[in-house]
This record gives sequence, structure tokens and C-alpha cells, in this order.
Amino acid sequence: MKVRAELKEISSGVYAFIQHRGEWFVSNAGLIVGEKFAVVVDSLTNESMARAFIRKIREVTNKPLKFLLNTHGDADHVWTNHLFGTTTICHENCREDTMRAHPEIYSVLFPELDFSGANITPQDITVNEKMKIYMENREIEAIHPGIAHSTGDLFIYLPKEKIVFCGDLLFSSKCTPFAMFGSISGSIEALKKLYELNADFYVPGHGDIAGKDEIQENISYYLFVQNEAKKCFEKGLNLYEFLQKLELGEYENWFESERIVGNLARAYSELTGETFDLLEVARLMFQRKNNKIK
Ligand SMILES: [Zn+2]
Repeated sequence: MKVRAELKEISSGVYAFIQHRGEWFVSNAGLIVGEKFAVVVDSLTNESMARAFIRKIREVTNKPLKFLLNTHGDADHVWTNHLFGTTTICHENCREDTMRAHPEIYSVLFPELDFSGANITPQDITVNEKMKIYMENREIEAIHPGIAHSTGDLFIYLPKEKIVFCGDLLFSSKCTPFAMFGSISGSIEALKKLYELNADFYVPGHGDIAGKDEIQENISYYLFVQNEAKKCFEKGLNLYEFLQKLELGEYENWFESERIVGNLARAYSELTGETFDLLEVARLMFQRKNNKIK
């Protein structure tokens, strides 16, 4: 799999590493460079992606990489932590997610993807609510927005530069948002928090650098998901049958539109308080993905 990637300077010393087009496991990362050291935001899925990122980093700075902040524990944001040689920091629940992952399962689910060089490396330091890194006159805040994309999200906020590294709280470039392992209502709340920061640049976990319009788009999508879950519930329909017939309207044309299956199952469980059959939902999601490709 060939991935086109670029390191974009957003503000002096603040960069987004954008991997196009942002599909499953093709995620973004960040770099913040100070006088004494640099901070990395997220690692990537496999060794070749991580090496490409590190090569780009070394084109713009020779400062030591001191900290790596993980925005959450998904494979595409933590599996090459070990290649950066830094102290790693994440939310307490993110560390648990990181340790629970099984690369061999992903290889079965995504046979076309390259997971070489991926490694499970538990983070060194955890945070529960909020922490700050002081870098000369720059402040780097890592803030937990509550349960949203996952149970252990952190977004990285640079208040002076008005930049937010959102991790997978935000998706752009018509990549479908995903919160199957977190909360749909929590994702909406987190997106509202991001919106209220009035930042100039929002770096999503997947897709190109975004603004407040994309935050609004993500909120609208999750409201659609909640509304469909409500329809299913109020009509007393079987969730798994509903998931197979569901029509997406404008969202059908978004990339990874099959994520609706996981999202809707999550929204339905928030509505009813019942858990859902994770394996069955995953099976239906990939069935929808494969039907689309044919
Ligand atoms: Zn991701």
C-alpha cells in the first residue's frame, strides 16, 4: 500500500503530518518543535509510515524528540510508538486499550494492509483529566473530553497558536466519523467543546486539516446516527436487520461509510442501555464494506 504523506507547517514550529486519503489505518500525526526539544503527537500503523514521518521530522529539526502524546489507543495512533525513542504519554484508558490490542486479529480483518514493524508498547506516563507541557513561551495542553471516540481520548490544544490536534474526535475530507468503541452522545459533546475553542486549525485523526465547518459536519453526522437509532428503537425493529437495510442518504458517498454499522449499534445501546454483539456488528460492518467494493 503506497501512502502519500506530507508534513505541513501550520504555525512556526507546529506541523501536521497528513497521510492521504485518511482511510482505515491511514492516520495523521503532529510535531511541535521548541528550543530544547520537540513533542510528537501520535505514532502510525506500520514501520514504513513511521520512518517516513521521522524522515520528514529530521528535515525540519534536529532537536531531541522528548515526548510522544497519544490521542487514543487505536492501532494507527500507537503501534509504532517504540520507533520514536521518546517518553510516551496518554490517557489511563488509552494505555489499557493499547495493551489489549492484538495485531494478529487485524491482519485477518484487513489482509490487504501492512502491519510490519508494528509493536504493542505500553505508554510511560498516563493522565486522567488534563496536563500541560511548557515549551519556552508555548503551552501544550492535553485534555480528556470524556468518553467520545474511545474511552481514553486526549486532544492536544495550543491556545496561543489556536491549533488543536483532535485525534479521532474529528474526521475530515469526507472520511466517515467512528465511535463504535466510545460514545455517540459523548462524541457530540466533545466536538462541541472543540468548536467552542474557536481554534483556527483543527488537525483531525484522518483527512486534511480542518476548521469549524468540519466539526459541524461531524456533529450533524452523529445526530443522524442517533436519529436512525431512535427510529429503529421506536418501531421495535431488530437492530441487526435494521443495520443491514439502513440507507445513508448523503453519507453513502462518504469514505468508509460502512462505519454506520458500528456507530448505529453504539447509539442504539446508549438509547436502550443494552450492550450489543460486538462480533456480529463487526461482521455486518465488513459485509457492508465488501458489498460496496464489488
Ligand atoms: Zn485513527
